[in-house]
Amino acid sequence: MLVSDLGEFGLIDCITRLIDKKSIKRAGPWQDLLVPAGDDAAAWKSRNGIELITTDILVEDIHFDFSYTSWQDLGWKSIAINISDIYAMGGRPQYALVSLALPGAHLVSDVLAMYEGIIKICNKYGIVLAGGNISASEKVVVNVTLTGMAGKDIMTRSAARPGDLIAVFGHPGLSTAGWKALIGHKKIDEADMKIMRRAHVHPAPGLDSGPRLAACGVRAAIDTSDGLLSDLEHMCEASRTGAVIYAQNLPVHRLLKKYFKQEFLEIALTGGEDYQLLFTAGPETMDAITKTMKPAPTVIGEIISGQPGKITVMDAKGNTFAFNCKGWDHYQRASCHE
Ligand SMILES: [Mg+2]
Repeated sequence: MLVSDLGEFGLIDCITRLIDKKSIKRAGPWQDLLVPAGDDAAAWKSRNGIELITTDILVEDIHFDFSYTSWQDLGWKSIAINISDIYAMGGRPQYALVSLALPGAHLVSDVLAMYEGIIKICNKYGIVLAGGNISASEKVVVNVTLTGMAGKDIMTRSAARPGDLIAVFGHPGLSTAGWKALIGHKKIDEADMKIMRRAHVHPAPGLDSGPRLAACGVRAAIDTSDGLLSDLEHMCEASRTGAVIYAQNLPVHRLLKKYFKQEFLEIALTGGEDYQLLFTAGPETMDAITKTMKPAPTVIGEIISGQPGKITVMDAKGNTFAFNCKGWDHYQRASCHE
Protein backbone atom coordinates (compact mmCIF):
# COMPACT_ATOMS: atom_id res chain seq x y z
CA MET A 1 0.00 0.00 0.00
CA LEU A 2 1.20 3.47 -0.80
CA VAL A 3 1.33 6.30 1.72
CA SER A 4 -0.99 8.26 -0.56
CA ASP A 5 -3.57 5.43 -0.38
CA LEU A 6 -3.54 5.48 3.41
CA GLY A 7 -3.54 9.28 3.87
CA GLU A 8 -1.84 11.35 6.54
CA PHE A 9 -4.11 10.34 9.41
CA GLY A 10 -4.15 6.65 8.48
CA LEU A 11 -0.34 6.72 8.46
CA ILE A 12 -0.26 8.39 11.89
CA ASP A 13 -2.61 5.65 13.21
CA CYS A 14 -0.31 2.91 11.88
CA ILE A 15 2.79 4.50 13.42
CA THR A 16 1.01 5.02 16.76
CA ARG A 17 -0.04 1.36 16.85
CA LEU A 18 3.52 0.28 16.04
CA ILE A 19 4.92 2.42 18.87
CA ASP A 20 2.39 0.88 21.23
CA LYS A 21 3.14 -2.67 20.16
CA LYS A 22 6.93 -2.63 19.82
CA SER A 23 8.16 -0.19 22.45
CA ILE A 24 9.66 -1.65 25.59
CA LYS A 25 7.86 0.31 28.26
CA ARG A 26 10.35 0.33 31.07
CA ALA A 27 9.62 2.20 34.28
CA GLY A 28 10.51 5.90 34.35
CA PRO A 29 9.72 8.08 31.35
CA TRP A 30 6.86 5.87 30.12
CA GLN A 31 5.03 6.09 33.45
CA ASP A 32 5.28 9.87 33.53
CA LEU A 33 3.75 10.32 30.06
CA LEU A 34 0.29 11.88 30.41
CA VAL A 35 -1.18 11.57 26.90
CA PRO A 36 -0.75 8.97 24.17
CA ALA A 37 1.01 10.01 20.93
CA GLY A 38 -1.44 11.88 18.72
CA ASP A 39 -2.40 14.87 20.84
CA ASP A 40 -1.17 18.39 19.98
CA ALA A 41 1.95 17.93 22.10
CA ALA A 42 3.55 15.25 24.26
CA ALA A 43 3.10 15.85 28.00
CA TRP A 44 4.77 14.34 31.02
CA LYS A 45 5.05 14.93 34.73
CA SER A 46 8.31 16.32 36.02
CA ARG A 47 9.44 17.64 39.38
CA ASN A 48 8.55 21.16 38.23
CA GLY A 49 5.06 20.43 36.92
CA ILE A 50 3.86 19.26 33.53
CA GLU A 51 6.31 19.58 30.65
CA LEU A 52 5.28 19.72 27.01
CA ILE A 53 7.06 19.23 23.72
CA THR A 54 5.84 19.54 20.16
CA THR A 55 7.30 19.68 16.67
CA ASP A 56 6.06 20.90 13.32
CA ILE A 57 7.55 21.36 9.89
CA LEU A 58 7.23 23.73 6.93
CA VAL A 59 8.29 22.37 3.54
CA GLU A 60 8.85 24.57 0.46
CA ASP A 61 6.21 24.02 -2.25
CA ILE A 62 4.07 21.96 0.16
CA HIS A 63 3.37 24.43 2.97
CA PHE A 64 4.68 27.61 1.42
CA ASP A 65 5.87 29.15 -1.79
CA PHE A 66 8.46 31.94 -2.00
CA SER A 67 6.35 33.72 -4.62
CA TYR A 68 4.13 34.95 -1.78
CA THR A 69 6.04 34.13 1.44
CA SER A 70 8.90 36.35 2.60
CA TRP A 71 11.78 34.77 4.50
CA GLN A 72 10.81 36.78 7.55
CA ASP A 73 7.23 35.51 7.41
CA LEU A 74 8.53 31.96 6.98
CA GLY A 75 10.52 32.30 10.21
CA TRP A 76 7.56 33.77 12.06
CA LYS A 77 5.17 31.07 10.87
CA SER A 78 7.55 28.20 11.67
CA ILE A 79 7.32 29.14 15.36
CA ALA A 80 3.63 30.21 15.34
CA ILE A 81 2.45 26.78 14.19
CA ASN A 82 4.18 25.22 17.20
CA ILE A 83 2.95 27.80 19.71
CA SER A 84 -0.66 26.91 18.96
CA ASP A 85 0.11 23.25 19.77
CA ILE A 86 1.61 24.16 23.15
CA TYR A 87 -1.35 26.47 23.81
CA ALA A 88 -3.76 23.66 22.84
CA MET A 89 -2.37 21.69 25.80
CA GLY A 90 -2.82 24.68 28.11
CA GLY A 91 0.89 25.39 28.40
CA ARG A 92 3.26 28.32 27.96
CA PRO A 93 5.96 27.89 25.31
CA GLN A 94 9.56 27.97 26.56
CA TYR A 95 12.47 26.75 24.41
CA ALA A 96 12.67 26.41 20.62
CA LEU A 97 15.09 24.44 18.46
CA VAL A 98 15.14 25.22 14.75
CA SER A 99 16.37 22.74 12.14
CA LEU A 100 16.83 24.31 8.73
CA ALA A 101 17.55 22.44 5.51
CA LEU A 102 18.22 24.49 2.36
CA PRO A 103 20.12 24.60 -0.94
CA GLY A 104 23.44 26.46 -0.79
CA ALA A 105 22.34 28.84 -3.56
CA HIS A 106 20.23 30.95 -1.21
CA LEU A 107 21.49 34.32 0.05
CA VAL A 108 22.85 34.54 3.59
CA SER A 109 20.83 37.74 4.01
CA ASP A 110 17.62 35.79 3.27
CA VAL A 111 18.45 33.15 5.87
CA LEU A 112 19.19 35.88 8.41
CA ALA A 113 15.87 37.53 7.55
CA MET A 114 14.17 34.22 8.40
CA TYR A 115 15.91 34.20 11.78
CA GLU A 116 14.80 37.83 12.30
CA GLY A 117 11.22 36.57 11.91
CA ILE A 118 11.90 33.74 14.35
CA ILE A 119 13.43 36.08 16.92
CA LYS A 120 10.55 38.55 16.56
CA ILE A 121 7.88 35.97 17.38
CA CYS A 122 10.03 34.40 20.12
CA ASN A 123 10.28 37.84 21.77
CA LYS A 124 6.53 38.39 21.52
CA TYR A 125 5.58 35.02 23.06
CA GLY A 126 8.41 34.78 25.61
CA ILE A 127 10.26 31.94 23.88
CA VAL A 128 14.01 31.26 24.09
CA LEU A 129 15.62 30.28 20.78
CA ALA A 130 17.95 27.71 22.29
CA GLY A 131 19.60 26.00 19.34
CA GLY A 132 19.15 24.09 16.12
CA ASN A 133 20.75 22.47 13.17
CA ILE A 134 21.45 23.16 9.48
CA SER A 135 21.64 20.77 6.53
CA ALA A 136 21.85 20.93 2.74
CA SER A 137 18.76 19.91 0.79
CA GLU A 138 16.97 20.50 -2.51
CA LYS A 139 14.14 22.55 -1.02
CA VAL A 140 13.86 24.77 2.04
CA VAL A 141 12.56 22.85 5.05
CA VAL A 142 12.13 24.43 8.49
CA ASN A 143 11.42 22.12 11.40
CA VAL A 144 10.82 23.57 14.85
CA THR A 145 10.71 21.76 18.17
CA LEU A 146 9.13 23.74 20.98
CA THR A 147 8.91 22.91 24.65
CA GLY A 148 6.36 24.27 27.08
CA MET A 149 5.28 24.17 30.68
CA ALA A 150 1.73 23.73 31.97
CA GLY A 151 0.16 24.28 35.37
CA LYS A 152 -1.30 21.38 37.30
CA ASP A 153 -3.85 20.48 34.59
CA ILE A 154 -3.44 20.18 30.85
CA MET A 155 -6.02 20.35 28.08
CA THR A 156 -6.31 17.34 25.76
CA ARG A 157 -8.29 16.24 22.72
CA SER A 158 -9.96 13.47 24.70
CA ALA A 159 -11.67 15.50 27.44
CA ALA A 160 -14.76 16.81 25.57
CA ARG A 161 -18.03 15.67 27.16
CA PRO A 162 -21.66 15.64 25.94
CA GLY A 163 -23.31 18.88 27.01
CA ASP A 164 -20.09 20.91 26.55
CA LEU A 165 -20.33 23.95 24.32
CA ILE A 166 -17.80 24.28 21.48
CA ALA A 167 -16.03 27.60 20.87
CA VAL A 168 -13.32 28.89 18.58
CA PHE A 169 -11.05 31.94 18.53
CA GLY A 170 -10.51 34.09 15.45
CA HIS A 171 -12.08 33.66 12.03
CA PRO A 172 -11.87 30.08 10.78
CA GLY A 173 -10.96 29.84 7.11
CA LEU A 174 -9.40 33.30 6.84
CA SER A 175 -5.92 31.82 6.34
CA THR A 176 -7.14 29.57 3.53
CA ALA A 177 -9.00 32.51 1.97
CA GLY A 178 -5.67 34.37 2.08
CA TRP A 179 -3.90 31.48 0.41
CA LYS A 180 -6.58 31.29 -2.29
CA ALA A 181 -6.28 35.05 -2.81
CA LEU A 182 -2.47 34.82 -3.07
CA ILE A 183 -2.41 32.04 -5.65
CA GLY A 184 -5.61 32.95 -7.49
CA HIS A 185 -6.65 35.49 -10.04
CA LYS A 186 -9.46 37.17 -8.13
CA LYS A 187 -9.43 40.95 -8.13
CA ILE A 188 -8.93 41.87 -4.49
CA ASP A 189 -8.68 45.38 -3.02
CA GLU A 190 -5.23 46.18 -1.68
CA ALA A 191 -6.31 46.74 1.92
CA ASP A 192 -8.32 43.49 1.93
CA MET A 193 -5.42 41.58 0.41
CA LYS A 194 -3.18 42.79 3.21
CA ILE A 195 -5.53 41.34 5.85
CA MET A 196 -6.00 38.01 4.08
CA ARG A 197 -2.32 37.64 3.22
CA ARG A 198 -1.36 38.30 6.83
CA ALA A 199 -3.79 35.66 8.09
CA HIS A 200 -2.03 33.10 5.91
CA VAL A 201 1.67 33.99 6.10
CA HIS A 202 1.78 35.60 9.55
CA PRO A 203 -0.60 33.66 11.84
CA ALA A 204 -0.70 34.84 15.44
CA PRO A 205 -2.16 32.51 18.08
CA GLY A 206 -4.02 34.59 20.70
CA LEU A 207 -1.35 35.57 23.23
CA ASP A 208 -1.63 33.35 26.34
CA SER A 209 -4.96 31.95 25.11
CA GLY A 210 -4.00 28.38 26.06
CA PRO A 211 -2.84 28.93 29.65
CA ARG A 212 -5.75 31.30 30.25
CA LEU A 213 -8.31 28.71 29.13
CA ALA A 214 -6.65 26.03 31.27
CA ALA A 215 -6.73 28.36 34.27
CA CYS A 216 -10.48 28.89 33.67
CA GLY A 217 -11.03 25.14 33.97
CA VAL A 218 -11.13 24.18 30.27
CA ARG A 219 -9.92 20.61 29.76
CA ALA A 220 -10.54 19.92 26.06
CA ALA A 221 -8.81 21.83 23.27
CA ILE A 222 -7.09 21.49 19.92
CA ASP A 223 -5.56 24.06 17.58
CA THR A 224 -7.18 24.79 14.22
CA SER A 225 -4.50 23.63 11.81
CA ASP A 226 -6.20 21.14 9.47
CA GLY A 227 -9.61 22.82 9.25
CA LEU A 228 -12.42 23.36 11.77
CA LEU A 229 -14.38 20.19 10.92
CA SER A 230 -11.28 18.04 10.68
CA ASP A 231 -9.85 19.32 13.96
CA LEU A 232 -13.20 18.95 15.73
CA GLU A 233 -13.46 15.43 14.33
CA HIS A 234 -10.04 14.58 15.82
CA MET A 235 -11.27 15.88 19.16
CA CYS A 236 -14.59 14.01 18.98
CA GLU A 237 -12.87 10.76 18.00
CA ALA A 238 -10.44 11.06 20.91
CA SER A 239 -13.32 11.95 23.28
CA ARG A 240 -15.71 9.28 21.85
CA THR A 241 -18.41 11.90 21.21
CA GLY A 242 -20.30 13.53 18.36
CA ALA A 243 -20.89 17.25 17.79
CA VAL A 244 -23.33 19.71 16.26
CA ILE A 245 -22.13 22.95 14.64
CA TYR A 246 -24.62 25.78 14.17
CA ALA A 247 -23.59 27.36 10.86
CA GLN A 248 -25.21 30.70 11.62
CA ASN A 249 -22.99 31.06 14.72
CA LEU A 250 -19.70 30.67 12.84
CA PRO A 251 -17.53 33.81 13.06
CA VAL A 252 -17.12 34.08 9.30
CA HIS A 253 -14.85 37.02 8.43
CA ARG A 254 -16.48 39.71 6.26
CA LEU A 255 -13.79 39.25 3.60
CA LEU A 256 -14.71 35.59 3.18
CA LYS A 257 -18.29 36.63 2.47
CA LYS A 258 -17.12 39.45 0.18
CA TYR A 259 -14.77 37.44 -2.05
CA PHE A 260 -16.07 33.88 -1.71
CA LYS A 261 -19.80 34.39 -1.98
CA GLN A 262 -20.56 30.77 -2.91
CA GLU A 263 -18.00 28.93 -0.81
CA PHE A 264 -17.48 31.03 2.32
CA LEU A 265 -19.19 28.52 4.60
CA GLU A 266 -17.21 25.61 3.22
CA ILE A 267 -13.95 27.57 3.57
CA ALA A 268 -14.81 28.54 7.18
CA LEU A 269 -15.53 24.91 8.04
CA THR A 270 -12.71 23.19 6.18
CA GLY A 271 -9.96 25.76 5.57
CA GLY A 272 -6.83 24.99 7.61
CA GLU A 273 -3.81 26.85 8.99
CA ASP A 274 -5.58 29.32 11.25
CA TYR A 275 -3.58 28.24 14.35
CA GLN A 276 -6.17 29.46 16.84
CA LEU A 277 -7.77 27.38 19.59
CA LEU A 278 -10.92 25.29 19.36
CA PHE A 279 -12.14 24.13 22.76
CA THR A 280 -15.11 22.84 24.70
CA ALA A 281 -16.40 23.67 28.19
CA GLY A 282 -19.56 23.32 30.26
CA PRO A 283 -22.07 26.20 29.86
CA GLU A 284 -21.08 28.04 33.06
CA THR A 285 -17.35 27.95 32.34
CA MET A 286 -18.02 28.97 28.75
CA ASP A 287 -20.19 31.87 29.85
CA ALA A 288 -17.44 33.15 32.15
CA ILE A 289 -14.83 32.84 29.37
CA THR A 290 -16.85 34.59 26.67
CA LYS A 291 -17.56 37.46 29.09
CA THR A 292 -14.01 37.96 30.31
CA MET A 293 -11.52 36.99 27.58
CA LYS A 294 -10.51 39.62 25.03
CA PRO A 295 -10.70 38.88 22.16
CA ALA A 296 -13.60 36.60 23.10
CA PRO A 297 -14.05 33.19 21.50
CA THR A 298 -17.29 32.45 19.62
CA VAL A 299 -19.58 29.60 20.68
CA ILE A 300 -20.34 27.60 17.53
CA GLY A 301 -21.97 24.38 18.67
CA GLU A 302 -22.13 21.62 21.23
CA ILE A 303 -20.76 18.20 22.02
CA ILE A 304 -23.34 15.42 21.93
CA SER A 305 -23.24 11.73 22.65
CA GLY A 306 -23.35 9.57 19.54
CA GLN A 307 -21.10 8.08 16.92
CA PRO A 308 -17.52 9.12 17.80
CA GLY A 309 -16.27 11.76 15.40
CA LYS A 310 -19.63 12.36 13.71
CA ILE A 311 -20.24 16.07 13.22
CA THR A 312 -23.51 17.53 12.01
CA VAL A 313 -23.53 21.07 10.59
CA MET A 314 -26.95 22.69 10.87
CA ASP A 315 -28.39 25.99 9.67
CA ALA A 316 -30.93 28.16 11.54
CA LYS A 317 -33.83 26.22 9.99
CA GLY A 318 -32.44 22.85 11.07
CA ASN A 319 -31.21 21.86 7.58
CA THR A 320 -27.98 19.87 7.62
CA PHE A 321 -25.03 20.25 5.23
CA ALA A 322 -22.77 17.65 3.67
CA PHE A 323 -19.17 18.43 2.70
CA ASN A 324 -16.88 16.47 0.44
CA CYS A 325 -13.87 17.20 2.55
CA LYS A 326 -13.44 18.16 6.19
CA GLY A 327 -10.00 19.67 5.95
CA TRP A 328 -6.39 19.12 5.15
CA ASP A 329 -4.81 15.70 4.69
CA HIS A 330 -1.29 15.81 3.29
CA TYR A 331 -1.72 12.83 1.00
CA GLN A 332 -5.34 13.41 -0.01
CA ARG A 333 -5.19 17.14 -0.50
CA ALA A 334 -6.21 16.94 -4.15
CA SER A 335 -9.80 16.72 -2.95
CA CYS A 336 -9.53 19.82 -0.79
CA HIS A 337 -9.13 23.48 -1.74
CA GLU A 338 -7.62 22.90 -5.14
MG1 LIG B 1 -2.28 20.72 16.56
